[in-house]
Amino acid sequence: MARIVVLGAGVCGLAAAMLLARDRHDVTVLERDPAPVPDTAGQAWEHWSRGGVAQFRQPHYLQPRARHVLDAELPDVRDALAAGGALRYDSLSAAPPSLPRLEPRADDDRFVSLTARRPIIEVVFARSAAAEPRLEIRRGIAVSRLVTRDRSGVPNVIGVRTESGEELLADLVVDATGRRSPLAKWLADVGTAPLHEEAEPSGFVYYTRYFRSRDGARPQPREGLLTAVGSLSILTLPGDNDTWSVTLFGSSADRPLTQLRDETRWAAVVAACPLHAHWLAGEAITGVLPMAGVLDRYRRLVTDGRPLLTGLAAVADAWACTNPSLGRGIALGLAHAARLRDIVRTELDDPHRFALAWDRVTETELTPWYRATVAVDRARLAEIEAIRTGSERRPPTDPAAVLGAALVRAMPHEPDIFRAFMEIGGCLALPSVVFKRPGLADRVLEVAARHEIAPPPGPTREELLRLIA
Ligand SMILES: Cc1cc2nc3c(=O)[nH]c(=O)nc-3n(C[C@H](O)[C@H](O)[C@H](O)COP(=O)(O)OP(=O)(O)OC[C@H]3O[C@@H](n4cnc5c(N)ncnc54)[C@H](O)[C@@H]3O)c2cc1C
Repeated sequence: MARIVVLGAGVCGLAAAMLLARDRHDVTVLERDPAPVPDTAGQAWEHWSRGGVAQFRQPHYLQPRARHVLDAELPDVRDALAAGGALRYDSLSAAPPSLPRLEPRADDDRFVSLTARRPIIEVVFARSAAAEPRLEIRRGIAVSRLVTRDRSGVPNVIGVRTESGEELLADLVVDATGRRSPLAKWLADVGTAPLHEEAEPSGFVYYTRYFRSRDGARPQPREGLLTAVGSLSILTLPGDNDTWSVTLFGSSADRPLTQLRDETRWAAVVAACPLHAHWLAGEAITGVLPMAGVLDRYRRLVTDGRPLLTGLAAVADAWACTNPSLGRGIALGLAHAARLRDIVRTELDDPHRFALAWDRVTETELTPWYRATVAVDRARLAEIEAIRTGSERRPPTDPAAVLGAALVRAMPHEPDIFRAFMEIGGCLALPSVVFKRPGLADRVLEVAARHEIAPPPGPTREELLRLIA
């Protein structure tokens, strides 16, 4: 069995580490943040210091795909999440009011998610991982560089060096250091050819507040969890233990939005949205939490069919990350971690073959999600910019974007189309897979052509500017 070092004890790094340890590998996780894992969900929410994860107290929702991975791979972690107060949430319950009543179907359970606030998700993963045989987690250890040897002209990673100068040798190093992964620098330091990396600011800024129910009642969505209201979007996320978050987000170029840091202005905007104002009916348990500077970033370690180096796999956000408004990061990161375990099972004894197989799995199964997510975000940002600047809105011309826009128009009108929409939203099936189903694309275009999109009620741009002035 192999020695494996996982860099980063975020949710996906811990999932990868547990899956590999359960395959009887000796796994060490190195985590830069020194804070010990709290005993309870309450302590995790109130006190856990996780400076290495900038989004630690930002809104999180687990898409149904995350629950599917947990069901299949880590059912004990799923059970621990449920025991910690995570909410079983049926995403079909957020059907728009225009949709005829949804008759239940035998396979509707696939739309059910298990979701919680981020510190609660992470404390459950961390406590499960800490109890795992063959898995050691060392906190307060920052990795500063890779240790390599030359193997047929390609650097082969054989371990890592920590900031304190300690070297740990490994048969495989897993980079799970998240969106700020220093992999590009680490590769440059060991002299590989430059990494293929695409990175640009996502262009969004977030303003979030959390609430807790006063009487055990939770607000129900009246228009899905994510709604575009003019130049702002509203994200309302159910959470664990009778909590929820409400997020207003928009373009980071929209300077007046900085006023949303003010609780009174923030609440005035939510209150002015008739389908969302009821989410304010709870005890606020935070102030307004802003977040900006979120990158879309994708990288690849194989160029022209040749690995830049071997002995290293980048997983989850360390591989690619996007603007998070579709809430896909952990669901896809867990799926990525499970596939890493599969590839380790079959390819680990040959580093070159392993590097190519890991690239192939990532490119065929994960990269299409990255591209699809970025495309949705770019389209929404263009729409926001048009509303904000009063410029003309150009309809999409790219066939995938045309179908995506038609799906949004058509989904409130037919149960089959709504379910197709929720499959994509829940990361259960890629748009390209869904639209290959016989007759679906034509049906979506036909229904979309018969329906105008009715903009959800809420403040106009002028009213918004008045509310936050
Ligand atoms: C604002 C925001 C909201 C989001 N909302 C959602 C959501 O609703 N649903 C969802 O699924 N996803 C969401 N995401 C994405 C989600 O947070 C990430 O996909 C997820 O955290 C990735 O997990 P990870 O384990 O790969 O990395 P991380 O959770 O980022 O963990 C990386 C770890 O590596 C450690 N580390 C870094 N450098 C080193 C080093 N040199 N040595 C040792 N350790 C190191 C860090 O301290 C950290 O603990 C959101 C992201 C943002 C920014």
